[in-house]
Amino acid sequence: MAQSPKNLRIHFYGVQGSGAVFPIKEERDDIRLHSDLDLLKKVFERIEAETDETGALNCSVEDLIGGPLNSESLRQFRDQVGATEPTIYGGWTSCFRIETSDGHDIIIDCGSGFRLCAQDLSQKWGDKPERTLHILGTHAHFDHTEGFDQSNVCFDPRNHIHFYANRSYLTSIDRHLGIFSHQADRSDEGRPTPLNYEMMPASFESTEIRDIAADGDEPNPMVTQYHDLSKPIKIGKTTIQPFSVFHPDPCLAYRIEHNGKVFVFCTDHELRHGDNPDFPLQVESIESEKRLIEQARGADVLYRDGQFLKAEYLAEKPLGGAMGVPRKDWGHSCIEDVVDMAIEAGVKRTYIGHHDPSRKWSEMIKIDADLAEQSKNLGQHIELAKAETIIDL
Ligand SMILES: [Zn+2]
Ligand SMILES: [Zn+2]
Repeated sequence: MAQSPKNLRIHFYGVQGSGAVFPIKEERDDIRLHSDLDLLKKVFERIEAETDETGALNCSVEDLIGGPLNSESLRQFRDQVGATEPTIYGGWTSCFRIETSDGHDIIIDCGSGFRLCAQDLSQKWGDKPERTLHILGTHAHFDHTEGFDQSNVCFDPRNHIHFYANRSYLTSIDRHLGIFSHQADRSDEGRPTPLNYEMMPASFESTEIRDIAADGDEPNPMVTQYHDLSKPIKIGKTTIQPFSVFHPDPCLAYRIEHNGKVFVFCTDHELRHGDNPDFPLQVESIESEKRLIEQARGADVLYRDGQFLKAEYLAEKPLGGAMGVPRKDWGHSCIEDVVDMAIEAGVKRTYIGHHDPSRKWSEMIKIDADLAEQSKNLGQHIELAKAETIIDL
């Protein structure tokens, strides 16, 4: 079993934006070519090292790869020579887990990555008689909620699942499942799930995060309690400050602090590029961006939505089609703007995610290489987010 985290351990389960993807044949060929080439280079280096002045090889193939030509020897050889693994950027939609030094598990979002996250949790919990899972929701869009009822955590009576989110997130989870209100809406034809709370023996709790001064706190059968947006949430030794960002559906971002280590999570936020600085949406977007910069100032790690390149956002360049499509008011930011913001806020490590499902793997490799080059000159680390990343703080 992995050691407990020193402070925070952040697991990336889903960094894909808008919809889950699986690489098509052309991309799989690309990935294969990339790793084959790397391994071949290492083999040739090894052959060169074992060749004498006359050009004769001084050892057998078995000696070269460290055993008979089978998958086990090849695996060992690959590890020994440090062949690079193919980089997998996306796949499942939004889901992150944060393990804390005092034993809590805090999840952000239940996109399709949540199914894998739940499998890891079940393994970690083993026979533990009581388990509490804290889930921070960002907003109601499907790519942030779709994985919840596909996970095994709902079906174990030992599990207590506590959601913290805005009303639209809680409503989207509750509407057909009824896990908070015990009223599953069965009126729709083509309901998104055959399941409901009667089949789910776990216990559920909901804390609605809202701006109480502006919106009030009138009772709602779905809500166990309210939490004011301006105040931090405390889970053990971890302090979580929610704040609003700019997106077509109300969306929350979170600043998570534990023993002085800071992780800022901001998915689905748009720094809007509009012509009129007084246009209300433009004003709102700029205010949100300023808020985000303040919350991220000096953070150890930032995850932020950067779905488009600026030329794609402005429809000067196509993305997944033959012609450019304007992306203004789709609710997502440009990679170049995230870089500027990370520099301004002095973030130590920035992971740019919510990848567009139409972005090709080969393009991701190129963008990531450009970011690595920029990082060298900055003294700050900036890269594209990759599924299965684990960060220890
Ligand atoms: Zn999204
Ligand atoms: Zn969204």
